[in-house]
Amino acid sequence: MRPTPGVEQLIAGLAAEGWDVLLLTDANSIFVNHWLKTHNLLEAVTQVVTNRAFFERGRLFIEPCMRQTACSRCPSNLCKSIALAQFCSQRPPYARVVYAGDGRNDYCPATNLPQHGTVFPRRGFPLDNLIKKTQSSSTPQVNAKVVPWDDCFTIIKELLPGKTKIEC
Ligand SMILES: [Zn+2]
Repeated sequence: MRPTPGVEQLIAGLAAEGWDVLLLTDANSIFVNHWLKTHNLLEAVTQVVTNRAFFERGRLFIEPCMRQTACSRCPSNLCKSIALAQFCSQRPPYARVVYAGDGRNDYCPATNLPQHGTVFPRRGFPLDNLIKKTQSSSTPQVNAKVVPWDDCFTIIKELLPGKTKIEC
């Protein structure tokens, strides 16, 4: 998978500024760890929540990262809202929580962000479309500030002002 332009600079930049970075993905641990290692980002990510993968007798097994029934909007193996809430509950209260994503399964956490939070939906992807739909309805479900992006430099500009000239 080719990285989204700016994503390496974004993750490294956030870590350098003392942000905690939680990676929530319905991929699997082998793929994610390989990706992070290849891009020299293992140290920059505080925690990864994903499906656990392992090889046994030459076969690849994937175990669901959770088995949840609490959220009816999300598949049983992963509700990113639950994962995010669990992560936050183990830490001192954050002054600011921001969330970037593109998939359908990013919509649930987007609706649970506080008003002072920010959600970054990738423009033209399912999350962006779902947010647009709810924001134009009579009962919008997203309270956080919405900042659509085409590449991660938009997010860098918003979160790390003064760092927009990070070398590619
Ligand atoms: Zn959910």
